Amino acid sequence: MAGSEPPSKVELCVLCRRQPIDPVWRPFCSERCKLRDLARWADESYRVPAEKVPEPPDDDGDNG
Ligand SMILES: [Zn+2]
Repeated sequence: MAGSEPPSKVELCVLCRRQPIDPVWRPFCSERCKLRDLARWADESYRVPAEKVPEPPDDDGDNG
């Protein structure tokens, strides 16, 4: 049975997600995206998600 599988998994630019990643500017597609990403990090507006800490099992159900 002939299946139409994709030739290969092409990684897209992590910034624009439109252009394939260029080995020169990994993991971006071009220098433009690379600089744009750096600019975003430089800006304080770029906030990283807080690390999720698993809460300890609190065995406190019954009253008393
Ligand atoms: Zn890009």
